[in-house]
Formats: sequence, structure tokens, C-alpha cells
Amino acid sequence: MKNSGYFSQFGGAYIPEILVPTFDELESAYLAAREDESFWQEYLDIMSTYSCRATPISRLDNLTEQLGGAAIYVKREDLNHTGAHKANNVMGQGLLTKRMGKKRVIAETGAGQHGVATATMAAKFGFDCTIYMGAHDVARQRPNVFWMEQMGATVVAVTEGSQTLKDAINEAFRDWVTNMEDTHYVLGTACGPHPFPEMVSWFQSVIGTESRAQMLERTGKLPARVYACVGGGSNAMGIFSGFFDDKDVELVGVEAGGRGKGVGQHAARLAYDDATIGVAQGYKTYFLQDNDGQMKDTHSVSAGLDYVGVSPILSALHESKQVRFEAASDADVVAAMQKTVRNEGLIPALESSHAFAQAYAEAPTMSPDDNILINMSGRADKDIFTVADAVDDPKWRQFIIDKAEQYQNAGATK
Ligand SMILES: *Cc1c(COP(=O)(O)O)cnc(C)c1O
Repeated sequence: MKNSGYFSQFGGAYIPEILVPTFDELESAYLAAREDESFWQEYLDIMSTYSCRATPISRLDNLTEQLGGAAIYVKREDLNHTGAHKANNVMGQGLLTKRMGKKRVIAETGAGQHGVATATMAAKFGFDCTIYMGAHDVARQRPNVFWMEQMGATVVAVTEGSQTLKDAINEAFRDWVTNMEDTHYVLGTACGPHPFPEMVSWFQSVIGTESRAQMLERTGKLPARVYACVGGGSNAMGIFSGFFDDKDVELVGVEAGGRGKGVGQHAARLAYDDATIGVAQGYKTYFLQDNDGQMKDTHSVSAGLDYVGVSPILSALHESKQVRFEAASDADVVAAMQKTVRNEGLIPALESSHAFAQAYAEAPTMSPDDNILINMSGRADKDIFTVADAVDDPKWRQFIIDKAEQYQNAGATK
């Protein structure tokens, strides 16, 4: 166990002995890249030519007027390639993989968004790519699996345990132990053993750096509050880090309130007091776990926020009260998304809609002289099945039934 990578009491690297040299190699490569200005320039270049950086800031004119109170601005991470901030992390780690001279990448994915982003990066850089995914998730997320395979990735359906994300993480680590010579593990969020939380936050800090400058240029001052949804915590770390030195900017992290309080109903680790401090998956943080350290079930309408742990850096910022944590319910989140689509023509992902829901609740209580900024971490194309179900659209249901019949008839005549 190493001593570096602690934020207050959180973080660390609780890893098997055999992986220590690999983590040392990664940490050295990461630290050297941070020292090397040309690395960051190469990163910004690729993000501006292959993704959509700098992403703009949009003012929600209609909702600002309707809700009253603070003026609402949105950072448009949905405009990144593959539709979310995840591109910032995977492209950064791709450049680092090249720098380490490795030729293969692996990743774990739950809903499949990080898998698609990693497969995209691997196709672009010419890496071999294996994505681990729980067998249940493979069954639920066929569109994402389809694209990963089209991009040349091998998608491994993990049939161990609950056949979901945590089993996929275990398998990915098993692969890494066997293949660490030529393989980099592209972890998807600001969690896991050191240096991942710090390194992923560094790549995502491009969001915060841009946002701060854009708000100053656009409005002549800093926003009063900045809102971001919190799954593992990478988009939140990204936008918040632009404002850590600004004492008057309040940072608000919004977790998955799900169906409400109670075991298995939500994934709020910091907003509610159900989570306790522990060590799992290689790092120390707040986990939704029972007294024996068994992980509890979680629930969220958005797959991307449905996780038992949280970034150790955010746990430290929670403790020091530099970030306020709230939870938004599934129902409020779907309503906030619909409100945004209808009034502004923006389609925030269900994850991002948590930040919108909280911001919409608070904006009317604030002064019209204040501006607030919401991180729109991604777009909702991927959520069409969930959202169409939630709003129970009869025409969508008929479309799915017709599609299924088409396939059935084609099968019958084969
Ligand atoms: C994956 C995802 C998240 C959650 O991840 P963080 O690491 O907490 O940012 C949030 N929003 C979108 C759109 C995502 O795809």
C-alpha cells in the first residue's frame, strides 16, 4: 500500500502487490506529462480537432424568465464527441497510453457510455481494445454494445456475481494483472486507486478552466453557484476545479436521489447519511455499504449515477464543506429534463438532468443579479428508451412493437 494520493483521509491505492510496478509506471508517466507543457498542448489540440473543445456556454433565456431569480447558464459538454464529458478523460488517457508505449487498452463499463468512449479512442489511436461489461448490462445496453463492436472492441460479458458494473471492474483488474506489460486500464471516473482520481480530474479540469474564463467574458463576473451531477465524480471535479480558489462561488454536487431514502432506493453517498467510510475497489471513500462492508443495492433512473462509491476528492471536499451535496429524485429529474427540452431545445442526459433539477429548484430563490452555471455533462440520445418509458409515449411503444414483429416475421421465414 502506498501513502501518496490521499485527500484528507480519503483515496490511497489499496492494490495487490503484483500491480504496484504498473501503478508506479502510470504515476510517473502522469506526473511527467503534467510537467510537460507540450503534452497538455497536444491534448488541447486533439480535443479541439476531434471533439468539440472549447465547448460553449448557453444562456437559458426562456427558463430564466419563467423561473425568475438567478440567470441560468449551461456548460455544453454534451457537444463532445460521443456526447459527453467522458471524451475528455479517454482521449487524455489515450495520449498517456501512447506515451507509455502501450498498445492495448481495457475498460469497465456499466451503461456502456465509457465503453463507447474508450472504443472510440482505441479506434482513433490504433489500440487493441477489450471492454468488460456485466452480462446483465450487455443485455440491457445493446445499442452501446453494437457501436463498441463496430469500432473493433471485444466486449466481454461478465457472468460472475450480480453480472453488473462491480463484477466488470473485478474482471478488468484480473485482465490487467495478466497483461500489464502492454495494456493500460482506462478507468472511467475520478475513483479507484491513486493516481486515477487525481489524473482523471486533471483531464476533466479543462471544463472548469474554460467555464471560468467564459463566464467572466460573457457576464463580467463569476457565477454565484455551479451545479454538477455526481456519479463517480469526474464531471463535477472537472467543472468545480475551475472555481476552487473563488471563495464566493458555491459549488453544488447533485447525486441520485432515486425513489427516495431507504436501502436500495437511491445512490446518494454524500447528500444522505447512509454511506460510511471504507476501503473497496482499491481506494478509501464513502461507500453505500452495510456494517460488514457488503455493498448495498443502489437505484437511479440514470445508469451513470448508479454507483456505490464516490471520488475520494469529493469526499474530502464534502468533509471540508467546500462542496454542498444534494440529491434529486427520479421524478424531479425526468421533469427537469422535459422542461429543458420543451423550453430550450436542449436535451440533457438523465445524469446531467440531476444538476438541472437542483438548479431549477434554487434559481427562483436567488437574486436576478446572480448567475448560476450548470454542467450539462452529456446529451440524452442514449436515454431515449428510459425517457420514452417514463413519459409512457404510446407512439414509441407501438414503434418498438412493430420493430419486434418485423424481426419475428423475418425469423419465421428464414
Ligand atoms: C458517465 C456520466 C456521468 C457520471 O460520471 P461522473 O464521473 O460522475 O461525471 C454523468 N453524466 C453523463 C452524461 C455521463 O455519461
